[in-house]
Formats: sequence, structure tokens, C-alpha cells
Amino acid sequence: MSLLVVGSVAYDALESPYGKVERTLGGAATYFAVAASFFTHVNLVAVVGDDFQAKDEAILRKRNIDIEGMERTAGKCFFWSGRYTENLNDRVTLATDLNVFADFKPRLPEKYRKASYVFLANIAPDLQRDVLQQVKGRPKLAAMDTMNYWIERTNAELRETLKHVDILMINDSETRQLSSEHNLLRAAKHIFKMGPSTLVVKRGEYGAMMVDKHGVFCVPAFPLEEPHDPTGAGDSFAGGFMGYLASAGSKSDVALRRAMVYGSVLGSFTVERFGLERLLNLKAKEIHARARHFAKLTQFTL
Ligand code: AMP
Repeated sequence: MSLLVVGSVAYDALESPYGKVERTLGGAATYFAVAASFFTHVNLVAVVGDDFQAKDEAILRKRNIDIEGMERTAGKCFFWSGRYTENLNDRVTLATDLNVFADFKPRLPEKYRKASYVFLANIAPDLQRDVLQQVKGRPKLAAMDTMNYWIERTNAELRETLKHVDILMINDSETRQLSSEHNLLRAAKHIFKMGPSTLVVKRGEYGAMMVDKHGVFCVPAFPLEEPHDPTGAGDSFAGGFMGYLASAGSKSDVALRRAMVYGSVLGSFTVERFGLERLLNLKAKEIHARARHFAKLTQFTL
């Protein structure tokens, strides 16, 4: 099944108590595509500037990722810079330079338009909607992410995009900000009125929670002794989640629960090293071994 993603492809500057990198390939769509490519073919829609390096293009090309929809234009790539505090839970955004994304008008290659699974990764909500509108018919499953940056700056556009997706996948503080509800179950009810029928809340070291008409399903975060850099964990979660669903060709409750586990598996590998490093060295057999570990981690008898 075809999986389409639109979102940022970026250069990131990252700082955590475990180290610092000045400029590394990042972006929400990049993490998503690399994570999902372990499960299925991914069609990527994004824009990069003329500073996008050949070695970074090769990283995407080498995988199961089609980059015909990644436009190259004059100017600089999206740039984001962030710093994490001692506990790695709190992050300060130091810079968000939209650069070439400021004037981006996505145009989907013909072969992308029949997508069955669509993920609108973190980027301006009007760009997310523009991509969704170019998909022929209604996709089998459309999911999206967003963040405080867009909730604060482009709230009306975001609410319009939300009307057209099945799943919203955001972190706990964004859930509270978007719904104006502190309690996550009440927040879910509020968000269902905006459009999505499923809410997936990414809760960092506390795991992830899915709320839909079947009820609530929770997975823990994989316990790690020495996480290094949480950047991209949420996007890798989304990539594992959507990649698994597209490969299974299903959106049943059983498939969605497994997707929650594969999402958590991919997110947990990302935080083990800086940037994309761990995902780029990951083997499929390690993914399946960790998924089995998750099953053991949560098994009990009554
Ligand atoms: P995450 O840690 O999952 O929130 O994702 C971090 C990635 O999102 C980084 O690689 C950034 O390049 C990218 N990013 C940060 N802010 C934004 C934004 N406002 N819009 C789109 N992508 C962003």
C-alpha cells in the first residue's frame, strides 16, 4: 500500500547534556520517512534549498523513499535549532527558520495521487491541506501531526485541516493547548468534535496513548538507560505507526494496537543516538526483537 508524507526536510542544530551537533539532516518528514521505510515504500513531498547536500539526498535515495516530490529551489533549507535540559523532557526551541518552506506550493507527482495512506507531518497546516486535496478520492487513512508553533500562529488554518483527517498524533502539551483541556480523555472528546476520530498522544518517557471509539489503549516507552537526544522521536513514532499500518493494509483495532507498538519501537531507537544516527544503522531484525520485548514488558496474568 502506498504511503505519502508531507512535512519538513531540514537541517537541525541540536544540543543535549550528551553532546552537540551544529548541522545535521533532520525535519519531521525525514524522520517519518526513514522510520516508515522499514515497513513500506514512502513517497515524500517537501522542499529543500540549494544548500541541500548530495550526501543527505543519498541517505533518502538509498532507502525505500521516493523523492520525486521533493522540490529543489533557490534559497536555504528549513532550519531548526533546539536545546534539551538535563532530564531530556524539556526542550527550548532556539530558532525556526522556514526559509524555502515560506513560499512552498506543493505539487504532487501523478504517481503520488493515488495514495491510500497519508501522513501530514509537522508543517504549516495550509500546506498539509493542499497536499491532501491533491490526493484522488479519500485515502484509506489520513493522519496528521502539528505543534505549538502552528497552534499559536495558524490556528484557523489548523482547524480547517483537522476536519479532513482520521487520526491526530500529537504530544501531551500540544493536546492540552489545542483542546484547552488538561485531562487527556476530555481533551480527546474535544478534539473528536474538530474532525479526527482517533487521537494518539505521544508522551515521551511516559509512552503513548490512543483514544478512539473502542476506548483507550496505552503502551509504555521502552525503558532506556541512556537516551541521548529525543529529537525526531515523535516523527519516528509516526513513521513506525503509519508504516506498519500501510504494510498491513488494515486499520482494524488489532492493527492500530500493533501500530502503537511499532511506533514506540521506532521512537525508542531514535532517542538512543543524536539525530538520525541510530535509525540509519538500524536493522529490521532489531525492530522485530524490540517489538517482542514490548510484548513481554506488558504481559501479565490475572
Ligand atoms: P520532534 O522532535 O518529533 O518534535 O521533531 C523534531 C523535528 O521537527 C526536527 O528535525 C525539526 O527540523 C522539525 N521541526 C521543528 N519545528 C518545526 C516546525 N515548526 N515545523 C516543521 N518542522 C519542525
